[in-house]
Amino acid sequence: MGLAVPGPSRAQAAQAALLMGATSAGAASSATAEGRQSAVWRTAEQQQAAFLSTLKSLVEIESGSRDLEGLRTMADEVASRLKALGMDVKTIPTKAPDFHPMLKGAELGPMVYGRKLGKGSNKVLLIAHMDTVYPRGMGAKQPFRIEGDKAYGLGIADDKAGVALILHTVDLLARLGHDDFAELGVLINGDEELGSPGSGPMLTELGSQYDAVLSFEGGGGRADMVRLATSSIAIAELKVTGRASHAGGNPEGGRNAIYELAYQIMKTRHFGDKDKGLKINWTVIEGGGVRNVIPAHASAIADIRSLTNADLAIMEQALREAIKDKLIPDTQIELTFFRSRPAFVPNAASVVLARHAQALFRAIGLPLEIRDRASGGGTDAAYAALRARGGVLESFGLRGFGAHSNDNEYVMIDSIIPRLYLATRMVMDVGAGKVRW
Ligand SMILES: [Zn+2]
Repeated sequence: MGLAVPGPSRAQAAQAALLMGATSAGAASSATAEGRQSAVWRTAEQQQAAFLSTLKSLVEIESGSRDLEGLRTMADEVASRLKALGMDVKTIPTKAPDFHPMLKGAELGPMVYGRKLGKGSNKVLLIAHMDTVYPRGMGAKQPFRIEGDKAYGLGIADDKAGVALILHTVDLLARLGHDDFAELGVLINGDEELGSPGSGPMLTELGSQYDAVLSFEGGGGRADMVRLATSSIAIAELKVTGRASHAGGNPEGGRNAIYELAYQIMKTRHFGDKDKGLKINWTVIEGGGVRNVIPAHASAIADIRSLTNADLAIMEQALREAIKDKLIPDTQIELTFFRSRPAFVPNAASVVLARHAQALFRAIGLPLEIRDRASGGGTDAAYAALRARGGVLESFGLRGFGAHSNDNEYVMIDSIIPRLYLATRMVMDVGAGKVRW
């Protein structure tokens, strides 16, 4: 393509492409790209069949976030594979904090933490989650299958492929006899889809100990990407207490909690600021119970997103102000505002990691977009980045589609080898101290 472009020289075109983050113009075509001549690439190529078989095993274990039995089976599977790859492995029991508005101290899926020491200078941590948003039984409708260039299955994109990529990255490094890192760590949690209420503090602690944390959520749809930003998430709960009374005989004597709650929901539903990515959506509601009684209780839960942690305070303040104005003066309104997941705000080291990943992809003849604006999703990279000692980077998973939807979920088979190559090279380069910030 570069040769056909008139005007600027090839070198200039390549330079411009580099600045724009594009990679095709002026770069070697993918077949002759130098990265593809390497032992890492060739070993990754040999792994594809084994990778798909791992993916199949992981998809076949249903592991919804509240399915403790399924999550324990998954944790055992992941732990035994990491042990077989020479890691020291611990399975860590996990529970929600008592003050969580919905989970209130509940037991959650365990974390699997594996470590391997090497001879190099830096510590690298790979993270992914094994829980899904789907309850037990749905797997039968979306079994693992390969059709054309796609592998389908429930939870395959979010985030079984991420777990499989980590297992095979550790495997690839072992096959290459590579131990030029101070430590290679793996943390797989089982409560991510709940907001990581149990594993979040551990992720933050590990982020403060490792030189780099790579998080393996999905790596894009049509185009490959890595992320330098994810949203902050909060949960608001409104509880209204009114007064019960007979709906036929004495409705005036009651104070309708549902009316008051509806008033508050309608008033607050457009709160936020588009430019700041600050938004609220009321998603769960409960109230009343008996047809002929004026309801004394009603409650609702809202999902709140923001690009920064600080902006959540604006939303909390606005809600606290809003509930002072009531439709029915002698009802009581209680607001709980729970900060669930922080926003991922990258530091300078994270930006360096992203550029390095882009350069590695360029060397295998592929573009890699760096996304530095969050689009509403929240991930565990944010917990790892809160007190990060080094860099944190998100979206090391496969390209795919259909996470959290009713559509069939799939991953792109042609992204397996490039993504295995990328993760392996990132561990090698960061572990050996070749990436500096
Ligand atoms: Zn996920």
